[in-house]
Amino acid sequence: QFPFGRRLPCDIYWHGVSFHDNDIFSGQVNKFPGMTEMVRKITLSRAVRTMQDLFPLEYDFYPRSWILPEELPLFVAEVRMMKDSDPSWKPTFIVKPDGGCQGDGIYLIKDPSDIRLTGSIQSRPAVVQEYICKPLLVDKLKFDIRLYVLLKSLEPLEIYIAKDGLSRFCTEPYQEPTLKNLHQVFMHLTNYSLNIHSGNFIHSDSVNTGSKRTFSSILCRLSSRGADVKKLWSDIISLVIKTIIALTPELKVYYQSDIPAGKPGPTCFQILGFDILLMKNLKPMLLEVNANPSMRIEHEQELSPGVFENVPSPVDEEVKVAVIRDTLRLVDPQKKKR
Ligand code: ADP
Repeated sequence: QFPFGRRLPCDIYWHGVSFHDNDIFSGQVNKFPGMTEMVRKITLSRAVRTMQDLFPLEYDFYPRSWILPEELPLFVAEVRMMKDSDPSWKPTFIVKPDGGCQGDGIYLIKDPSDIRLTGSIQSRPAVVQEYICKPLLVDKLKFDIRLYVLLKSLEPLEIYIAKDGLSRFCTEPYQEPTLKNLHQVFMHLTNYSLNIHSGNFIHSDSVNTGSKRTFSSILCRLSSRGADVKKLWSDIISLVIKTIIALTPELKVYYQSDIPAGKPGPTCFQILGFDILLMKNLKPMLLEVNANPSMRIEHEQELSPGVFENVPSPVDEEVKVAVIRDTLRLVDPQKKKR
């Protein structure tokens, strides 16, 4: 750690948040320039949508989305048109403020007229998205998957996907959205940061119980129910590759402007957090990509009212230590030299 600046050049630079160091002329940096901007909700949505327009079947793993406020009239018109052509279609939508995280500011609506226009929408752009009403449930609960993906190089494109990830569970049994339950975040949103505040949250030392489990424990369970886990993995892998392909053109522009070809500079790699939701039919859907996935392997425990202590979290440790270890092995400068 260099809290007061660095003197000697390093083999590997591990930045906490983003690529912001103009003083690096060699070695490898763990962030790509522009990645944080590229995976913001609106930019990611735009990038994936460009590909959806070109290759609709290949990019059907991302819910139909509109950008607010600029596409509000389009959103209203398209929903009206779809409802007219299929009166049995009773959609739900999820509104997510741009740049938000941990479920911040997210709400569900049944109709475009329910968008909260008062004040915030102009100042806080958002993405509104078709809500996936039929997620796969385990123990009657909705959950999502956090997978760790190493983008090792942009040119040539080199992507590694960690074989295990985390499954983060809701803490109220799932029901399809109705006007009555739309606001129940513990039922509809899988964010750890929200569900931790529910009285039902279960910290478990085992990887296959509780409110945070390993993805491999879910796969085991699905496989014992006869699910085609190989097909699921192959769908997840193509979702990851196609998403990164959608981001690549603009990432290259950022890269060339920060590290122009021919000038001494570092190479980059980055661990990304992919948030994926499985539908009931096991189709994986992309929710979002995180440029700074949390690598914490501890969680807070309240010892007595108001007194907190950090205690190890075996599930996080099992998954995240392997991700960092394998990343360092893959980018090992000694290995490169050999
Ligand atoms: P944040 O960055 O605030 O976590 P997300 O896009 O990950 O925003 O959304 C938060 C949660 O909302 C997700 O973890 C998921 O449980 C739920 N969610 C998001 N988008 C959808 C969707 N289209 N359909 C169903 N659930 C969704």
